Amino acid sequence: MKDYQYYKQRKLCTSCHRKDSRTISGKSLCIACNKRQLDYSKTRRLIRAENRICIECGKPLPEKEQYKTCFSCRIFNAERCAEYRERKKADECAQA
Ligand SMILES: [Zn+2]
Ligand SMILES: [Zn+2]
Repeated sequence: MKDYQYYKQRKLCTSCHRKDSRTISGKSLCIACNKRQLDYSKTRRLIRAENRICIECGKPLPEKEQYKTCFSCRIFNAERCAEYRERKKADECAQA
């Protein structure tokens, strides 16, 4: 977008255009907008699930996949679950 440089040069937030930006990893966002981006990464799993992408690794899921994770992530999770069960901590196993 063409406005990006305009706001960046004026040290304004490139997202909301209102507040002074802090250059957080080169993004030129204000604190509020940076926090919003962090919140977004928390909801990324939900967004991935909606877009039929593995919620663990972000790989596209096969068309007929009924789980929210890909095959290799499920194997990894299953191994982890087996380990938890052995230690009688099955409730800590996050079943997909
Ligand atoms: Zn902002
Ligand atoms: Zn995966």
